[in-house]
Amino acid sequence: SSKRFEGQKVLITGASQGIGEAAAQYFARHGAQVAINGRKEEKLRTVLETLPKVSGGDHVIVAGDISQEESIDKIFQKSIETMGGLDILICNAGYQIPSPSEDITLADFEGVMAVNVTGVMLCCRAALRYWLKAGVKGRVVVNSSVHQLIPKPHYLGYSASKGAVDNIVRTLALEYASRGIRFNTVAPGAIVTPINDSWVKDPKQYEAVASHIPMKRPGKSNEIADAMGFLASEESSYVTGQTLYVDGGLTLYGDFEKNWS
Ligand code: NAD
Repeated sequence: SSKRFEGQKVLITGASQGIGEAAAQYFARHGAQVAINGRKEEKLRTVLETLPKVSGGDHVIVAGDISQEESIDKIFQKSIETMGGLDILICNAGYQIPSPSEDITLADFEGVMAVNVTGVMLCCRAALRYWLKAGVKGRVVVNSSVHQLIPKPHYLGYSASKGAVDNIVRTLALEYASRGIRFNTVAPGAIVTPINDSWVKDPKQYEAVASHIPMKRPGKSNEIADAMGFLASEESSYVTGQTLYVDGGLTLYGDFEKNWS
């Protein structure tokens, strides 16, 4: 651990498990004060108890659904009031629903878009309103996916949503660059988290997933948190509007590794 984020106030959506929880651990370990969001207060309380307190200021729970405008207002109000400000926003919450695309329901498609796209937009808007008023050069890191680039059949809403957030990040990065507010994206490959229980818990499927990744293994949540940390820190002070793929080479067209001669 270090104190590289000492005095920094970080809000993380979807921090009750998986990558968001790893991000909360990362920022807390490096001295930040952290506000953790998720829908279930109880689950967040368990996470809160495990967060290290490296420098002053308590971590805070800000439960609420990020696809709802009113609850976003409350989440940001409580985060900013309790921590005394906000410097970094990690838009991590997201989910997916599998279905053959000819059977996809409007409710499922819109539900995924509401969290993965509208939720990100509303969180960015809330952060911007505060940062512009307070004169803070804030940083946003959005958790997208390799599926902003690689099509994901049977997950039409998810693919569409991750393509959309890439453009939200690039558009906002351009609009606010002159004011020193930075927006970047982390695009994970296959990571071992509860969202992937279907293959993580089945040795055969796990092997199938691992074998088509050039590095021959799925990633770990903390490997995504490390990349988020870089994009939220001063080490990336001249980087904005970019996607950092953290995917063990998944976006490298792995078939070309074979010897074609
Ligand atoms: P996860 O299912 O383990 O965690 C998702 C978190 O988001 C949970 O805390 C959940 O409560 C929260 N969440 C969902 N809907 C919410 C809402 N409406 N309001 C507030 N919180 C909500 O998933 P994960 O694997 O940790 O995924 C986190 C992010 O990483 C997602 O955006 C996902 O698309 C992305 N991602 C994951 C992988 C992977 O392989 N695990 C790969 C690429 C991208």
